[in-house]
Amino acid sequence: MSRAPLKLGCIADDFTGATDLANNLVRAGMRVVQTIGVPGEPLAADVDAVVVALKSRTIAPADAIAQSLAALAWLQAQGVRQFYFKYCSTFDSTAEGNIGPVAEALMDALGTDFTIATPAFPDNKRTVFKGYLFAGDGLLNESGMQNHPLTPMTDPNLVRVLQAQTKRRVGLIDYNVVAQGADAVRARIAALRAEGVGLAVVDAISNADLLRMGPALADLPLLTAGSGVAIALPANFGLAPSPQAAALPGAQGLQAVVSGSCSVATNQQVAHFIASGCPARAIDPLQLAGGPEASARVVADALAWAQPLLASGPVLVYSTAEPAAVKAIQDQLGVAEAGALVEHTVAAIARGLVALGVRQLVVAGGETSGACVQALEISQMQIGPQIDPGVPWCHAASPVAPEAGLHLTLKSGNFGSVDFFSKAFGQLSPA
Ligand code: ADP
Repeated sequence: MSRAPLKLGCIADDFTGATDLANNLVRAGMRVVQTIGVPGEPLAADVDAVVVALKSRTIAPADAIAQSLAALAWLQAQGVRQFYFKYCSTFDSTAEGNIGPVAEALMDALGTDFTIATPAFPDNKRTVFKGYLFAGDGLLNESGMQNHPLTPMTDPNLVRVLQAQTKRRVGLIDYNVVAQGADAVRARIAALRAEGVGLAVVDAISNADLLRMGPALADLPLLTAGSGVAIALPANFGLAPSPQAAALPGAQGLQAVVSGSCSVATNQQVAHFIASGCPARAIDPLQLAGGPEASARVVADALAWAQPLLASGPVLVYSTAEPAAVKAIQDQLGVAEAGALVEHTVAAIARGLVALGVRQLVVAGGETSGACVQALEISQMQIGPQIDPGVPWCHAASPVAPEAGLHLTLKSGNFGSVDFFSKAFGQLSPA
């Protein structure tokens, strides 16, 4: 089968950020596949854009560069025309990087002397003015991000932050230029290039700013940005928002929810699902402490409970608990041990549910999602319609769901409305 060339190839520095970008591209009119890591096989679907999800935000710069270059090579082999390095809209980076080092390595590999850098994502209240990043109504370094455990952001001036991470000169395309439109941005890019500037932070305080600058970005081989800039790119390829961009195969099979998230929103969603009369089963993490056999028993018991119920509608299996209960478990088992034990058990249950015929699966929890995707041996997901902001349905092939694959949605922590679990199933079109 010959397919149209891929338009956009994206490399994201973490998993949920990749989904966020993919979701924005779909809403702006592109058909998108998100991959988990660099796939060992070619692209499985005919789409406009691919987002390769790495976990490279806080690893050593040399590792982040190596992973990003491997992703670039895979995207080039798929015939991509323009590349997009996606980082967090709060510009999360350590003192060494990895935004600067990865951007520079990608520029070298692509043989380009210029790219932009803007984390602006006005829909999420991230705006850039005079090179200063605002999160909500305040500067980045007053937003709480100055206390982030892994990537404390103490300087809101992105020109300074990025300059400390790269050998190339960093410049600014400020609001006065962006407000004048794409021709002015093009002229400013040419002037910066002539001055020897390699990376330019770009101001944007609204979606209109991003859309206005969009045409000026069409000829750059590489863009580096948060997920906001994505809204302006499909138009450069002649694409407009359309329901077809989010079309997935028709849904079939049984329905289930697994939840390993203990966030406030997830606790409310679990309580709501139970209160509405749907079958739900809690996992007790203490029962997992007895080694692999104990955990296998918990999985088998949960599946035996679910099997006769599945034909009547969605079931929920959850380890979700209130903070005091989570703390008690962590005190007994250790924080990391409790997390890993519960994740693996929830993921094994997800796999077992799919083996029982579940083909519509809701997963709650960011780390839990990573474990479930791994247990289901999923490497590529097509992104479908958004259920709630930032949370789309996806469709993926899995050896556990042979032939037609399965629909899944991966909801991290505090996302989704209180009725998310039941609402999600109503938004899939039947086969
Ligand atoms: P979120 O997206 O809400 O942060 P995650 O899945 O990323 O959710 O993280 C939740 C973590 O808490 C996981 O490591 C999970 O295994 C762990 N966990 C889940 N339930 C419990 C529990 N009852 N006690 C202790 N840890 C738990």
